[in-house]
Amino acid sequence: MNEKKAFETNVIHSGYNSKDFLGSLTTPLFQTSTFTFDSAEQGEQRFAGEAEGYIYSRLGNPTVKALEDRIATLEGGEAGLAFGSGMAAVSAVLIALTKANDHILCSRGIYGCTFGLLSMLEEKYNIQTNFSEMKTEEQVRSLIRPETSCIYVETPINPTMELIDLAMVSRVAKDYGIPVVVDNTFSSPYLQRPLELGCDLVVHSATKYIGGHGDVVAGLLVGNQDVIQRIAMTTQKDIGGIISPFDAWLLLRGLKTLAVRMDRHCSNAEKIVPYLKDHPAVAKVYYPGDHLHPDYYIMKKQMKYGGGLISFEINGTKQDAQYLLNQLTFIKKAVSLGDAETLIQHPSTMTHSVIPEETRLHMGITDQLVRLSVGLEAFEDVWADLHQALNKVESSKVEQ
Ligand SMILES: *Cc1c(COP(=O)(O)O)cnc(C)c1O
Repeated sequence: MNEKKAFETNVIHSGYNSKDFLGSLTTPLFQTSTFTFDSAEQGEQRFAGEAEGYIYSRLGNPTVKALEDRIATLEGGEAGLAFGSGMAAVSAVLIALTKANDHILCSRGIYGCTFGLLSMLEEKYNIQTNFSEMKTEEQVRSLIRPETSCIYVETPINPTMELIDLAMVSRVAKDYGIPVVVDNTFSSPYLQRPLELGCDLVVHSATKYIGGHGDVVAGLLVGNQDVIQRIAMTTQKDIGGIISPFDAWLLLRGLKTLAVRMDRHCSNAEKIVPYLKDHPAVAKVYYPGDHLHPDYYIMKKQMKYGGGLISFEINGTKQDAQYLLNQLTFIKKAVSLGDAETLIQHPSTMTHSVIPEETRLHMGITDQLVRLSVGLEAFEDVWADLHQALNKVESSKVEQ
């Protein structure tokens, strides 16, 4: 298709040819649950896989197909699959790759609901998970067991922004023939393409940067044709976490500006980091694009820029962190990320509150930690709002 073109061109054009749709510039919305057959025999042939054509929207839909082809091109994979949420994609891939009594090796910090899913898989099917920092080849190798059926990695890690060297992990996994799945939500394919680094499958919460406008909950998966086809015909078809055609249409629209949006998210974040680091109310800043970040060298190896997310610790307590959130004027208190609006949240009481305290602290998620998803507004305004709120945190402590 358009694979030879640049990323910035493919986000707009790949997966869609207007000639196939009466010249429509944008992908038409096929808001239909089912597709009619010309004859009984044609229906029989479609069900038997002997004739091309759509059957029913849980099994495929042209608007959804355009999105799946586009994300596959952007990630540099053979095939894509769209889901009704990021968690529908994560659960479809993890259930497809594992069976009872298997073992999963997972990065140390992961999305809260992925942690919940892994706990459920352990409780119901005795699928055990080891969480690892995955700092070295030896560390990864030492945790692989004969029954390890999947390595699951999130990088940058939410919300502590540590990175994992994807080329290193995939090199080790190849020796054992174990598939590596990467949650690429925080980077989007514009900043990081795990398949090009040897990983096998990429999942996204498309709710975040891919949609980019805070109006869709959706998930995406990319990998080679065989695995994607198997997941499409098993955990997607039979569990049924599919995307609606309208949400796929919104994602196709959001994707067109992915490259320009990511440039702004990243440049805004890069400008805010030094100011945050200088403020007396801030104890610690976690941003992979900061050259003093311990994993900066990994960022340079595998990411285009450091991303649009910054986590930082307030000098103080849980109450000081909550006080900061309450002093902000236009920065929105909300979970999620990757929207046009700058969003701030408090992981220990919000996104990561389901994780037992001891595990959470071990993951580096303290009560003083807040996570900022830098939006597309003028950097000066975002910093001004943060600055006045941080000043209030500082002066409230002097008063105490
Ligand atoms: C939001 C998120 C998910 C879950 O996606 P939903 O679309 O909310 O289901 C998974 N992984 C990461 C890193 C996320 O940020």
